[in-house]
Amino acid sequence: MIVVCAPSTTPEQRSRIDAELTALGFPVAERELGARRILELPRAADACRCSIERLAGVERVFVGSPGVHLAAREFRPEGTTVRVGEAVFGGDRTVVIAGPCAVEGRTQLLEVARAAADAGASVLRGGAFKPRTSPYSFPGLGRRGLELLTEARAETGLPIVTEVLDTRDVEFVAAHADMLQIGSRNMHNFALLSEVGRTRRPVLLKRGMSATIDELLAAAEYVLAGGNDQVVLCERGIRTFETSSRNTLDIGAVPLLHERTHLPVVVDPSHASGRRALVRPLALAAAAAGAEGVMVEVHAHPAEALSDGDQALLPAELVTLVREIRGIDAALRPPSTARQPLETHS
Ligand code: PEP
Ligand code: MN
Repeated sequence: MIVVCAPSTTPEQRSRIDAELTALGFPVAERELGARRILELPRAADACRCSIERLAGVERVFVGSPGVHLAAREFRPEGTTVRVGEAVFGGDRTVVIAGPCAVEGRTQLLEVARAAADAGASVLRGGAFKPRTSPYSFPGLGRRGLELLTEARAETGLPIVTEVLDTRDVEFVAAHADMLQIGSRNMHNFALLSEVGRTRRPVLLKRGMSATIDELLAAAEYVLAGGNDQVVLCERGIRTFETSSRNTLDIGAVPLLHERTHLPVVVDPSHASGRRALVRPLALAAAAAGAEGVMVEVHAHPAEALSDGDQALLPAELVTLVREIRGIDAALRPPSTARQPLETHS
């Protein structure tokens, strides 16, 4: 049995909980998880669950294997709103995040950043630390890339989201970026998840390419348990038997996640498809499925891109896409109504 104590537990409540657990006569292992105290008892204690659950200061009791708690829809049925600059994930518009796969240099980034702002995107993306499958591929500009992103923010006013790969860089990236991206390859990097959980920067958590919905939610739980409740999930395509596109967009993950969690959901059709021609229809499908945002890669000269040129939209294509997404917003979620996930019927 696992007993999760609320961060707000008073010293008196804490003593009462400890006394009740000691009285059960089982060994109790104690540890801190972010702002919470976690008490673990052997399986034999499971039968006493009800009396423990009733104690003031006890937030949740798990018997069997521990699951998600803070990320579960029941924890905040009304849904979570995450603000990044002027962008509101969970507001009445689908947030469009746009920018290059990688920050390659000043001219390249500023050209795309201006195009993203002009097209009506509200967050600028760009990788400075790039997770590359091959160690010989372009690894990104690192800290210099972050400086260029802050310059692009100053010029366009767009907040920036960029990936952090390493626990040692979290402080630096959090000091510069408005939102921290955890990439697909790092969704299971629990040290990194805990570290971003200690910051107060919004986090864009991408689904591992072979991760289940349960695993994605458990990864989000790490960040939330650390005390950071500003988490946005990102469906970016999963690996299936199908090899015609880079990945397979799991569009069903959008309404499924809305059932299971209160966290906003973004879809990345660029990595899901790997092909420019597929990005627009998949982005529109995501907006129609109720995603709180879409993230697309854009490059002014895709043929010269140092990474993912094949899936980059041209600036003019982004203009069309944002206009079409606004059309879907107008049809599905008029500004006067509070945003609700699309209903699912069982
Ligand atoms: C990215 O968005 O920059 C990226 C590397 O995507 P993913 O982690 O989904 O592969
Ligand atoms: Mn990319």
